[in-house]
Amino acid sequence: MILLGPPGAGKGTQASSLVAEYGLVHLSTGDILRDAVANGTELGRQARAYMDAGDLVPDELVIGVIRERLAREDIGEQGVLLDGFPRTIAQAEALGQVMADLELGELVVVNIEVADEVLIRRLSGRRMCDSCEAIFHLDRDGVDVGDACPKCASGKIYQRSDDQAEAIAERLRTYHEKTAPLIDYYKHRGLLLEVDGSGTPEDVHRVVLARLS
Ligand SMILES: [Zn+2]
Repeated sequence: MILLGPPGAGKGTQASSLVAEYGLVHLSTGDILRDAVANGTELGRQARAYMDAGDLVPDELVIGVIRERLAREDIGEQGVLLDGFPRTIAQAEALGQVMADLELGELVVVNIEVADEVLIRRLSGRRMCDSCEAIFHLDRDGVDVGDACPKCASGKIYQRSDDQAEAIAERLRTYHEKTAPLIDYYKHRGLLLEVDGSGTPEDVHRVVLARLS
């Protein structure tokens, strides 16, 4: 299973719920790479050289490491939810090949859709304390810039520049640009399950389960 969705769509929460529901192995690209490095496999050692130098690990190497991980027994038995992979069409094609080679069965891609306006409202409502760094939400907690922190009382509430509406709109534009081709790719193959992510996390989880069943 692959989960797609913009920042603020609640992907992390849905991923945890799905992993629990189906007993899937939850793997992020970062986990897989760190695991290969820790196990000292040949590919892991090659990947480590890039990571130590602060360079991006090349696609072929990432795919090789993912292939090694997906070949392990737990994946065939439990299934897997991949986090942060694939990000490009080339990676999606490589994943399809790996799954066919390893006879891993069906792929399902869940796309959590939330309108940009809703995401901007969710994300731009985030407020933080400049002292204890507690996180609040304008809508949920009624805490806004300049207020005294309800948690530690000594700090003042502020909004991070990343959380301002223009910055969020920019992040969303980047997301749409990068992910749209992937969404089309899976849609054309009939593997995409589109889910409305505008409700509460529980609502969205119920919808995803109903659609998957
Ligand atoms: Zn505080």
